[in-house]
Amino acid sequence: MNCDICGEWMDEYLDGVLPDDVRTELESHVAACAGCRAELEACRRLGQNLKQLPIHIPPAQVCLRVSEAIHAETPRARRSDFGPVLDLDELADYLRVDKKTVGQYVGDIPCFELGGRLLFRKAKVEEWIAGRETVVDFRSDWPAVQKWNVSDNATKGDVSWVLAQKN
Ligand SMILES: [Zn+2]
Repeated sequence: MNCDICGEWMDEYLDGVLPDDVRTELESHVAACAGCRAELEACRRLGQNLKQLPIHIPPAQVCLRVSEAIHAETPRARRSDFGPVLDLDELADYLRVDKKTVGQYVGDIPCFELGGRLLFRKAKVEEWIAGRETVVDFRSDWPAVQKWNVSDNATKGDVSWVLAQKN
């Protein structure tokens, strides 16, 4: 046994889980090697000191907050069943975009306010979508779309470009 292998097995040695032959090898290496002997002694002391530390069990409130934080970071599955009225979260799922993107169009999308919440009638949202729909041919080259009076600032495919297609 060399020092590297001895170091690797020290935890198991101290836990008493090494097979007899390995334990015997480790013990004879440690008996002959001052460095590993010192390290083993340090590990043994560390283990004893750790056992003296109090065990803290976090209160349920902390566990709940940790769990909520983890869930907030985990992407949530999008809803696919919708009733006739959508709230902002459902609208985002319905439109297959994130809530922030929906927020950019809130002035555009027909909605009503009830009890301090913005709500959207699915039928009206569908009409709004239909009003925006257009066939965008991304295969054609940029000069070919100049005839649509695209504003100079428009980037091909963006909203003002798409709207220019409709006018
Ligand atoms: Zn050694």
